[in-house]
Amino acid sequence: MRKSLVVGNWKMNGSLASNKALVKSLIATVGVDSAVDVSICVPAIYIAQVSSLLTNQAISYGAQDVSIHEEGAYTGEISVGMLSDLGCSHVIVGHSERRQYHNENSELVARKALVAQQAGLTPIICVGETQEQRQSGNTLTVIQEQVAAITSLLSEQDLKAAVIAYEPVWAIGTGLTATPEQAQEVHQFIREQLGSAGGSTRVLYGGSVKADTAVALFLQPDIDGALVGGAALDATEFSAIISAAG
Ligand code: PEP
Repeated sequence: MRKSLVVGNWKMNGSLASNKALVKSLIATVGVDSAVDVSICVPAIYIAQVSSLLTNQAISYGAQDVSIHEEGAYTGEISVGMLSDLGCSHVIVGHSERRQYHNENSELVARKALVAQQAGLTPIICVGETQEQRQSGNTLTVIQEQVAAITSLLSEQDLKAAVIAYEPVWAIGTGLTATPEQAQEVHQFIREQLGSAGGSTRVLYGGSVKADTAVALFLQPDIDGALVGGAALDATEFSAIISAAG
């Protein structure tokens, strides 16, 4: 039985004041016995603030990226050790914005997932096709390549503990959402690609998820929750998505 998981990706948004208001609203909505695991992945500079706001709360928190290096001369980078030090439980790796703007390839993404797991963090590994790739009928080929990089590096045990987020690039921040059937097809395919780990790994959907689209998505057998961008900045909307997953 896979427990539902809803993760908020704040991207590069927030301020000390707005973070405080948002987290306080979420605490008021997400009970400690929640049937849904909830996590927020915030800009690295705000992890310490969010950590203190979430002390003894049911909501976990994490980062949006991590270095493959342990420490040293890597200006601007943040290590898994640093994230663990601040109590992070999750880290997003391979978000399409990292793949697109920072040239991250599937091999690097898999290495990030591995270092995260070795440090006891849960990687949320993003995969997804572009509009062009979908239109040319290459969705499953692209997903296969992205997932193969992960399965070639992670053990079965690591794969079971990892989270995969299927995020069609054309649906991220665009207001377009994959239909439940389109998403289910890819989620089922991802699970097959994960082999014997597939039944245990949580596979989230991401791409303009809102409360009103979440319900039908969460009814699909292979969708275990969502990675939520824009709507995670609105406590009411994010809470409604969490309720839909319960
Ligand atoms: C994301 O950033 O992972 C995401 C899915 O964004 P949005 O929900 O805004 O499309």
